[in-house]
Amino acid sequence: MTIRSVRQVLTGRPTSDGGGVRLTRVISPEQGLDPFLLLDEFDSSEASDYLAGFPAHPHRGFETVTYMLDGHMLHEDHLGNRGELKAGGVQWMTAGRGIIHSEMPQQVGGRMRGFQLWLNLPAADKMKPAAYQDLEPDLIPSVEVPGGTVAVVAGVLVAADGGTARGPISGGATQPLYLDVALEPGATLSVATPPGHTVLAYVFEGAAVIAGQAVPKGTLARLTDGDTLSLSAAAATTRVLVIGGRPLGEPVAHYGPFVMNTGAEIQQAVRDFQAGRLTG
Ligand code: MN
Repeated sequence: MTIRSVRQVLTGRPTSDGGGVRLTRVISPEQGLDPFLLLDEFDSSEASDYLAGFPAHPHRGFETVTYMLDGHMLHEDHLGNRGELKAGGVQWMTAGRGIIHSEMPQQVGGRMRGFQLWLNLPAADKMKPAAYQDLEPDLIPSVEVPGGTVAVVAGVLVAADGGTARGPISGGATQPLYLDVALEPGATLSVATPPGHTVLAYVFEGAAVIAGQAVPKGTLARLTDGDTLSLSAAAATTRVLVIGGRPLGEPVAHYGPFVMNTGAEIQQAVRDFQAGRLTG
């Protein structure tokens, strides 16, 4: 067994996106955390921070994964999908060659909290037709572990006793793992992680310890390679987003809502969008 340790700790930066939603950008494309491009955390009880929402906008070349913890948003896209995003629910959207969608708050007060992850697609999949999955909370297994629970959004959780729980999303080129881990103080969880995969842990409540290193709230730990991630909760109830995936090892060309392999492909995406043919 090779336990992953902390290679680097990163903190997010405050920014805004969409119509003017305040958020924390935990991962940015230029950081090279292949296959992960972006992770945004939004958390506010001030309606003015989120009411503007994310009006209609395009994407091409990757996947977006939205995980709601509090609040209510409505997703609509050019394919006619409508998804009510509520606490514990996930929207897994594969932009492929193109999607135009909006995500708008359905509340005028109260807390809005969640994450959006951008997961890259390999060159071979970037121009595939768009797809959308609305995963209601009851589709996401919640697994009891000693001293806590784990919501398995994607991939497989292998428990210490050898039992497994499979999330509703699995496979694909990046073989994503997406876990929401909640641990009581002093509890420790070990998670099997495929060697060679990029694994990141973002602490969003409490404080964690990973391989002897403190990882406070609001901190992303980038882990070394290994087959096991072991994390413990320090003083308070702790929640950690664990994200893993197989690196693609391909060049990344990023411009706004488009992520391709080359600058020429980005220029094509911009032209296609301007000409109204992004979505095919
Ligand atoms: Mn979007």
